[in-house]
Amino acid sequence: MRSAEIIAVGTELLLGQIVNSNAAFISKELAECGVYVYHHTVVGDNPERLKKVIEIAEKRSDILIFSGGLGPTEDDITKQVLAGYLAKGIIYDAEHLTKIESFFAARKDKMSENNKRQAEIIAGSHVLSNDFGFAAGMFLEEKAHTYILLPGPPSEMQPMFTKYAKPLLLKNSEREIILESKIIRFFGIGESKLADDLKDMIASQTNPTIATYAGENEVVIRLTASATTREEALRLIAETEEEIIKRDGAYIYGSGDVTLVDLVIQQLMEANMTISAAESLTAGLFQAEFGGTTGISKIFKGGMVTYSSEIKHELLHVSNETIEQEGVVSQACAIEMADNIRKLCKTDMGISFTGVAGPESLEGNPVGTVWIGLSVVGNPTLAYRYIFNRDRNYNRRRAVKEGFALIKAFLDEKFDKKEK
Ligand code: ATP
Ligand code: MG
Repeated sequence: MRSAEIIAVGTELLLGQIVNSNAAFISKELAECGVYVYHHTVVGDNPERLKKVIEIAEKRSDILIFSGGLGPTEDDITKQVLAGYLAKGIIYDAEHLTKIESFFAARKDKMSENNKRQAEIIAGSHVLSNDFGFAAGMFLEEKAHTYILLPGPPSEMQPMFTKYAKPLLLKNSEREIILESKIIRFFGIGESKLADDLKDMIASQTNPTIATYAGENEVVIRLTASATTREEALRLIAETEEEIIKRDGAYIYGSGDVTLVDLVIQQLMEANMTISAAESLTAGLFQAEFGGTTGISKIFKGGMVTYSSEIKHELLHVSNETIEQEGVVSQACAIEMADNIRKLCKTDMGISFTGVAGPESLEGNPVGTVWIGLSVVGNPTLAYRYIFNRDRNYNRRRAVKEGFALIKAFLDEKFDKKEK
């Protein structure tokens, strides 16, 4: 199988001003082309250092993929340096030039010399069209190496790679071995505990490989299998997955790109249950999660941000007695908030968040103490206490995630009961 190296060019990347998301995107895509990625390199907009990087990359990789530095300005050097390195000329691509010219003609705008330079390509390369910008991408095959040049802006690079570069790579790869990956998502278990549970499997892994990653508030396992057919690769993944489910299945909430929020929304939709929320420390973060889904009004009715004690009382009708005697960070307050918002919004389910985000403690509760209340029509209202001991915003995001996990646990159980 051929190996690739992704060379991201740009001083901003070295300065930490932008994140090298292009390398991540291209790596994921390459797995589907049957290409291994062994190296990610980042180099500044400096001709000597870029040349050095090419020299090193050629020794260890078959395919060199460049991102960035294809623009028309002085600091955009990728194509010039590679052309010099390969001792090739730079020529205008007539078709690409016409494309740029017609764009300016249509806008009755004047084209600058700079724009024209974006139709320049390394002689002998195949142009990769840019549907969202001017810079032409390039695909060049030389004796032992393939060079792919892509623009820096992800909005141009991504479609260019998938639509134009990938088919060329697929055509050229022998496809004798393909890679398949599966992502399994866990919530409620730490990475170290998960790695420990799977210790023997991880130690003896060969095919598929097992990699654990800690995301924010969740852990992800990626299984990657290689085989001569897709079916065989999927079979290998399924076998390992089965063993993982046996050990830690209780913590798995989904696979692939799905999120906990997506799953809960889907479950609520299927159950045809409406929801509302009353939020104190999360200040609307929970409800904001619903905004991105079309048709969400079917289940999400709305809610309140009741940050101060007065608003908790005046708008949400939490009793003064509870506030004074139990405090706002209390089980009683969380229960009243959840019950009251459910009734006010006339929904099937009401959820509440109240706690101490930090950095100061409140009412004698340590920072990170959060009560989440869940009120569901026809069920006893419950509130659960959590203690998250990180910074303010982590604690708030974590609370939101635990809220979704709580709803999921409730719906899972309800669904199971129905099945029996
Ligand atoms: P342009 O024609 O816009 O100058 P370019 O191909 O010359 O494109 P750069 O100048 O290197 O690309 O980068 C342009 C922008 O693209 C950067 O400011 C950044 O927003 C984005 N970008 C560049 N490289 C990367 C990368 N590796 N990952 C994510 N974004 C990137
Ligand atoms: Mg540029």
